Amino acid sequence: MKPVIVFATANENKTSEVRELLKDHFEVKSLTDIGCFEDIPETSNTLQGNARQKARFVKDNYGYDCFADDTGLEVDALNGEPGVYTARYGGPNKDAEDNMNHLISELSKAGAHTPESRSAQFRTAIHLIVDSKEIDLQGICKGNIAQERSGTAGFGYDPIFIPEGESRTFSEMSSEEKNDISHRGLAIRSMLEYLCVK
Ligand code: IMP
Repeated sequence: MKPVIVFATANENKTSEVRELLKDHFEVKSLTDIGCFEDIPETSNTLQGNARQKARFVKDNYGYDCFADDTGLEVDALNGEPGVYTARYGGPNKDAEDNMNHLISELSKAGAHTPESRSAQFRTAIHLIVDSKEIDLQGICKGNIAQERSGTAGFGYDPIFIPEGESRTFSEMSSEEKNDISHRGLAIRSMLEYLCVK
């Protein structure tokens, strides 16, 4: 039987992405799977701090080996914004359409109209707690922000994020293609490397 590890998220899109990446080694349970329906505080001003807060909450209250992630979109022309505010950039409802509209409008206000001037990166921070050891990991995917949405797959800012070396947005890729190069894919693979050699 594969060991259980809890991914401290209630987001089913993220859980299925990660389950696919870890399927040969771990049974991945989400917060829903362990009956955790609380709103876990995320009050840090860094991605790593938020990931740490969520993972420690699960370990302290439910006792599982676990990991948590926090992702930010860091846009060069906006001095690294929205960063830790990525989920609620367009307002408190955390709505993906509002977030994309706000980002497109801020880039336009900043006069960033060419692909080069719209460079950005997704950064995923992970905090892992296993066998009472704690470790921080991260994954980065560089790219740029499209002027318009393309594609229907994925979630969040996927319709306007074009990864480096690609002409398609994340939303125009299959989940396997996205996992191969995405911030979360890279962060999860470095976690897997740690777990398998530790
Ligand atoms: P979280 O920390 O994973 O919840 O991510 C914060 C916010 O970043 C989400 O609400 C999404 O708006 C955005 N985000 C995170 N990961 C992705 C992704 O893979 N594609 C597009 N947007 C993402």
